[in-house]
Amino acid sequence: MSNTNEMQVEFDGIGENEGFARVVVAAFVSQLNPTLEELGDIKVAVSEAVTNAIIHGYEKTRGKVRIHAKLQENRLIIQIMDSGKGIDDVEKAMEPLFTTKPEEERSGMGFSFMEAFTDELKVESRPGEGTTVTMVKVMGAGNGSDDRID
Ligand code: ATP
Ligand code: MG
Repeated sequence: MSNTNEMQVEFDGIGENEGFARVVVAAFVSQLNPTLEELGDIKVAVSEAVTNAIIHGYEKTRGKVRIHAKLQENRLIIQIMDSGKGIDDVEKAMEPLFTTKPEEERSGMGFSFMEAFTDELKVESRPGEGTTVTMVKVMGAGNGSDDRID
């Protein structure tokens, strides 16, 4: 199909790479001329998913986090994958304020933010095998204002 562009990146699931993940996705998506707001939304959504992979998926263990991003016309389709412990009950995990780590100042709002800041969110998980979060963000769907970067 014309007008598509894809990238994949894999990195160690450690906190030091949260910022890296955000920036690499922002750089990739910049070719669509996102607004600052769209870029901010994408960064938050990616951050939340990557942080989850690191702190919940791998907890005290180590493993790789993979990001697969695809631009299709004005849509960004992004997957964040880990091979960590997985989620027993995805529906429950996605409820606002649900967290399995209340003792670690977690508020249980990560999935709610991902949902709010993107146009589609899908979470697939197998206990013991890992989790894949897929998000779709449509660019230019907003107000058509001229606050674009460059
Ligand atoms: P917050 O994101 O507000 O700091 P949180 O991470 O607990 O808190 P969510 O991001 O909404 O909240 O995730 C809800 C729950 O889903 C987590 O507490 C965790 O139990 C589970 N979870 C989320 N992502 C993963 C993952 N990649 N692997 C395993 N469990 C996960
Ligand atoms: Mg979270």
